[in-house]
Amino acid sequence: MLEKNAADNANKAKSDFLADMSHEIRTPINGILGMNEMILRESREENITEYASNIKSASNTLLVLINNILDFSKIEEGKMSLVHAEFDMADLINSLVNMISVRSEEKGLDLIIEADETIPSKVIGDDVRISQVIMNLLTNAVKYTETGSVTLRIINRNMNDDDVSLRVEVQDTGIGIKEEDIDKLAKTFERVDEERNRHIEGTGLGISIVTRLLAMMDSRLDIESEYGFGSVFGFDLVLPVADPSPMGKYDEKRNVHESDDVSGTKFIAPSARVMVTDDNSMNLKVASNLLKIFGITPTLCSTGQETVEKFYSDKYDLLFLDHMMPRMDGIETLKQLQENDILGDTIVVALTANAVVGARDQYLNAGFDDYLSKPIKVSDLEKALRAYLPESKIEPVSEGETKVVVDAPVEETFDDDEVIEFEAQDGNGKIADGKFDIVSDVSLSQARAYGLDVDAGVGYAAGDPDFYLEILYDYANTAEDKCSSLQSYKDTGDWKDYEILVHSLKSASKTVGASDISEEARLLEEAAKNNDTAYITSHHDGFVAKIRELAGKVNNCG
Ligand code: ADP
Repeated sequence: MLEKNAADNANKAKSDFLADMSHEIRTPINGILGMNEMILRESREENITEYASNIKSASNTLLVLINNILDFSKIEEGKMSLVHAEFDMADLINSLVNMISVRSEEKGLDLIIEADETIPSKVIGDDVRISQVIMNLLTNAVKYTETGSVTLRIINRNMNDDDVSLRVEVQDTGIGIKEEDIDKLAKTFERVDEERNRHIEGTGLGISIVTRLLAMMDSRLDIESEYGFGSVFGFDLVLPVADPSPMGKYDEKRNVHESDDVSGTKFIAPSARVMVTDDNSMNLKVASNLLKIFGITPTLCSTGQETVEKFYSDKYDLLFLDHMMPRMDGIETLKQLQENDILGDTIVVALTANAVVGARDQYLNAGFDDYLSKPIKVSDLEKALRAYLPESKIEPVSEGETKVVVDAPVEETFDDDEVIEFEAQDGNGKIADGKFDIVSDVSLSQARAYGLDVDAGVGYAAGDPDFYLEILYDYANTAEDKCSSLQSYKDTGDWKDYEILVHSLKSASKTVGASDISEEARLLEEAAKNNDTAYITSHHDGFVAKIRELAGKVNNCG
């Protein structure tokens, strides 16, 4: 018995260590990826961009590995739970195809999708985890196949009023697996046929995660394989149906995959009229600085009401509209713009911190043209600008031309009820307003010492450390107001406003690299949404204390 306890403790210590380490390793990788993105974007030298592309692909591989370790340790500790939400089957297939098609093309493999047209268009389940399972199988199929094809097959086996029974298969024409090895596969970290596969990178983690995730969904992986000819990995999944209308031909719904590599697609659009609405002033700053890369000076708005007022007198090409805002949220704001007939030809893109596979549908149904997840990535913003700005306003930047530089310090004078035209600072960038004098006193190493994921934060600040520090100061400076508002929402049991504010703290904290605070905010948001007052009561004080502690350190440093 004692021995068992000791073994359990050792196992727990190992899992904790794995979880901590993988979290720690992700930080510098994100930093590498962020900085590397700047090289890809700014360098005009072919060999440098080629090196940078290699760094990008190696770092992404490393990130997948680390995420796998983190997921695995979470599952082992029983900390992974499934989320049940409505999602669109065509969206799910789309995102899988987009993720795998580049890799299969690179290897010259045919990617075949066979999805029954009768599959219900909307089902309920954990789309992120289902997608993770299928993606793991697809990645392996491509990895272990040199010629031929990889097929993703989704069959509608049976459907009644409530549920659909789906059969998912990933088939390849690759190297196959020996019969005696198939049983070994479900065991943790088992790689089979090591001799033959020694030149193929891998850890044996993928299938272990797949089998465990499937077990959580009451399913199991079955494997059929012919050594030397190929394999079929499959599983059955019973999911509640949300919308039984048939998904139809998958191809017709398919979004064309756009490459994530934005290095060769530079343009500016200085004449574009863009508005960004977000109740969080820090998010507005981030968005405006990112837009500056494209030579765009946006109009910034901090409430839905002012957005509507502005639209009475001005015209915009594009509106980036935050979803979760107090008083009038993004959906309500959009409705007012439409009902008052003042939207005109403006394209409206939702900004959201809750990006899941089904999110797109939710926003399209609400009348948005698209959505971007926060913190905004430069490559996503670029795609949106290219897709939605009028062609006549897009000016390609030719080779050798000076690029638009991000102006780091920006004026921060607006409050909750103000609409401001954004102006970058000139001169040496010193900010006149007294409250910002302190900014320069927070250093990156201090921020790091406060436990912040500085690299991720700098990444969200378009790779500009000064801008990051300014955002951090801003965060600290507004923290007290937010904490006391949160406290009063809690005291009066105003869970709707509590949810909205804690939601905004979630993305704000993530943007400054306070990932633990962001995660706690996420859990509190979830609790507020479910009226889980017991959870809020036991976690609220600790959460607020953490924000105050961080803000105190930032404000009093130096
Ligand atoms: P790895 O990271 O090694 O690919 P996985 O857990 O994903 O780890 O897979 C475990 C082992 O199963 C692999 O090392 C490989 O030997 C075998 N395997 C997985 N998928 C395939 C496939 N499609 N074809 C042949 N062998 C496969």
